[in-house]
Amino acid sequence: MTADDPGRRADYARQEAELDELYRDIILDHYRHPRRKGRLAAPTATHEGLNPLCGDEVTIEVIVRDGRIQDIAYMGSGCSISQSSASMMTEAVHGKPVAEVRGLIADFTAMMRGSDDIDPESLGDLEALGGVRKFPVRVKCATLAWHTLDEALAEPK
Ligand code: ZN
Repeated sequence: MTADDPGRRADYARQEAELDELYRDIILDHYRHPRRKGRLAAPTATHEGLNPLCGDEVTIEVIVRDGRIQDIAYMGSGCSISQSSASMMTEAVHGKPVAEVRGLIADFTAMMRGSDDIDPESLGDLEALGGVRKFPVRVKCATLAWHTLDEALAEPK
């Protein structure tokens, strides 16, 4: 079965329809009106991530200067959850110190694992993606951009 399998696509559409309405609205808003989608002129790091389970692709570009994410953008294609997660993430981390962003990546991935150590409400709109946890196969869609950013931040400057 491939990512383009019609049965899988139907499953995914059904899963998205089953998300809580509030969560779905936030996710679809970012999918339809992506923030910070595009390319940077002179990124200090670029990393590409792939989720073969669903066929999602995300490329993250960042400009890190003085220990801060001065600018960030993403390109990608795939399901609404993977792409809206990238959009929400870029908005959440833009301008923030790298140390703080690493903490946010840890908190977000902990929420997606269902960890009790994190209060999802502390993550603001990102809590919407936590609703995806009820479809375990889609958790990788939601975390793709975050793992990709983590790897971009680990690249040597
Ligand atoms: Zn996906």
